[in-house]
Amino acid sequence: MEILILLGAPGSGKGTAAGFIAGQGGFTHISTGDMFREAIRRRTAAGREADRHMGGGDLVPDDMVMAMIRERLSWDPPRTRYVFDGFPRTVPQAALLDRHLGKESGRILAVILLDVPSEVLAVRLTGRRVCPACGAIFHTANRPPRQEGVCDACGGSLIRRDDDHETTIRRRLDVYRQRTEGLVEYYETRHLLRRIDASGPPADVHRDLARHLDLPGEAAPC
Ligand code: ADP
Ligand code: ZN
Repeated sequence: MEILILLGAPGSGKGTAAGFIAGQGGFTHISTGDMFREAIRRRTAAGREADRHMGGGDLVPDDMVMAMIRERLSWDPPRTRYVFDGFPRTVPQAALLDRHLGKESGRILAVILLDVPSEVLAVRLTGRRVCPACGAIFHTANRPPRQEGVCDACGGSLIRRDDDHETTIRRRLDVYRQRTEGLVEYYETRHLLRRIDASGPPADVHRDLARHLDLPGEAAPC
């Protein structure tokens, strides 16, 4: 397996970027956040455990995240290429991933850091609206749906994610600085890190991603 990792603070646009990369073909999108939200919706044991952490803006424990990733990767043929959005999120998770890749003869193609100043992050997170039915992401100011509250792609009702509220947003940004930012150095040391300025509109970010990754990069729907 070959893996592309998207690294960045909450609100840096990992989900949108991963959707773009997957949409260009050849990559399977894996979002640990989406997987946990799905488990919460289905009220599984893992979902209940994840909810206890996510609701307050904290991270799900590393061993639980890795168990879920391992199980998910076992579904696909060995040659699959993935784009990871939201994993790894701590240095121990990165080490667990390295160990897993060692066993499976997999490798990391690149780690892309989506760089966004913190003022921009807060604005993006408070305005974010998502479609639980199809996963599409909108923004009240930057990318409003054609009809307020309704998904352009599937007609589903848009919602504000439980963890997209003021105090939880602040907590998630702190957690990013304390637990995730160390990954920048981890991957820099391994010569895998590439930085992209992700403070502009999605089209600009997509163009840069396409250039860095050698994707066709034609005008994407989002
Ligand atoms: P964002 O990057 O905007 O915070 P995500 O959907 O990636 O959104 O993650 C939402 C929440 O899911 C996180 O705040 C965390 O609680 C949990 N989560 C997702 N991925 C991981 C991970 N790799 N390790 C621990 N917790 C995770
Ligand atoms: Zn939808």
